[in-house]
Amino acid sequence: MGIDSLQSATVALLKTAHDKHGDKLIYPCALGSEGVVQIDLICRHVPGIRIMTLDTGRLPQATYDLMQQLQDRYHLQLDIRFPDAQAVEKMVREHGVNLFYESLENRKMCCGVRKIEPLRKALAGMGAWITGRRRDQAENRQSIQQVENDPVFGLLKYNPMLDWTEADIWQYIRDNDLPYNRLHDEHYVSIGCECCSRAITAGEDPRAGRWWWEQQDTLAECGLHVTSLGGRTGESGEGI
Ligand code: SF4
Repeated sequence: MGIDSLQSATVALLKTAHDKHGDKLIYPCALGSEGVVQIDLICRHVPGIRIMTLDTGRLPQATYDLMQQLQDRYHLQLDIRFPDAQAVEKMVREHGVNLFYESLENRKMCCGVRKIEPLRKALAGMGAWITGRRRDQAENRQSIQQVENDPVFGLLKYNPMLDWTEADIWQYIRDNDLPYNRLHDEHYVSIGCECCSRAITAGEDPRAGRWWWEQQDTLAECGLHVTSLGGRTGESGEGI
């Protein structure tokens, strides 16, 4: 599918979602490469869709710079959500500031406090949410549908970027001179918290850039796109 067709299909699904859900629709965006493309399409074609992002308190400066660039370019009021300060204080007091390196349990606790709970709050009362998930990001994404029931948050989930490839995304970014996270130029593929993201080398699985100290079977999921909060489907991180 060419870029024009991809763009038309994505905009059509975004419009369908917005027509159906109105202000009960939200796009939680992690500001990855597909995220900036989808933000561009939303701002130009369906500007009524609310775009939110999470400030976990541990993001790279490059991500904050991108947030500002996007707000300036589109006159966009990003809905920036934060973790509960008392929950973060308690976790750090009891488990240390770098707890995530010590065990899988600690890492999931940190993702829970800094990401999942704030997202759960943001989604409360919503009817549907939008993701930036793509089929080419993982083998187990081939069966993902454009519109799905989300059993984790009890909402409809729209996946308008499903058929875009990595190459399509970067072609669109270049063609439209979009701002993007400069860490991508340093071989970061998936960018989350600064302490939990790294550059990858040629041929490495993109998900190896997240929580790389963990075993392969526990890599690359923070719990946002899971069939239950205890399981995982192989999400690489876009969608927060
Ligand atoms: S990615 Fe790392 S720092 Fe960020 S919330 Fe998860 S464990 Fe915590």
